[in-house]
Amino acid sequence: MPTFFDTHAHLDFPDFEADLPQVVERAQAAGIAKIISVGTDFDSSARAIRLAERFACVYAVVGWHPSHVTAAPGDVCPSLRELAKHPKVVALGETGLDYHRLPGASGPHEASPPTTADEAGRVAPCAPLPDNERYQQHQAALFRQHLEVAAEVGLNCVIHQRDSLEDTIAQLTPYADRVRGVFHCFANDAETMRRILAMNSLVSFTGIVTFKNGQNVRDTVAATPLGQLMLETDCPFLAPMPYRGKRCEPAYVKEISEMVARVKGCSLEELSRATCTTAHEFFPKLSG
Ligand SMILES: [Zn+2]
Repeated sequence: MPTFFDTHAHLDFPDFEADLPQVVERAQAAGIAKIISVGTDFDSSARAIRLAERFACVYAVVGWHPSHVTAAPGDVCPSLRELAKHPKVVALGETGLDYHRLPGASGPHEASPPTTADEAGRVAPCAPLPDNERYQQHQAALFRQHLEVAAEVGLNCVIHQRDSLEDTIAQLTPYADRVRGVFHCFANDAETMRRILAMNSLVSFTGIVTFKNGQNVRDTVAATPLGQLMLETDCPFLAPMPYRGKRCEPAYVKEISEMVARVKGCSLEELSRATCTTAHEFFPKLSG
């Protein structure tokens, strides 16, 4: 049976609390030999490490997600350095920039009008307006701290970007000779993929490739060289067909691999060899 890795899972999320041993067992039975559990803050990262200690096939990525930036300490570097020492911590992240929901917007990029007066016409005490620019600067600083520590300890970064592609690429570029990024849950076009590969970074694909409306992602998969992509679930999110809408789990990399092999016109064995080799190069501490 061709084996694959789930290079981006959130096994520490409460969704898996009740049946995690079975989830890991089903992954192994489906040929998903290694699972990388990705932290979203320090508690989540510590839980990912504990799971890596508990299950031989589980590895951890440690970091602070840009969407949780307001809860982040001003300097995450000392904790990142400590967490990165663990033998099963294989990268830093997920980190990057997310402009999809800015605090000062009711919808994406849409400013909400401030309420300045109450019904009596008196000036009501205003809550301080959320400041999108400061929020974005805070995300940028958090991202930079991950990149600095990654360069220092010799690990790569798992990159989350949403509606922030240009800024994310611009911030990664000065580090490109020292730190590689994997743009996870990649759903951009082939031209963007080529820009990322040109920085010596990678892309990884989720169950979106199996969606009926995922043709644009399949086009990007078709254009991506076999040795420069990885597979992931991003579980518990984004279950592939035929499980769409249900809880996702690492075993479903099987469905993702079948679609990617079909799109690439290669065998599952070829895809297995290519993606596992790529993952071992990108995550140098991924053993075996
Ligand atoms: Zn994720």
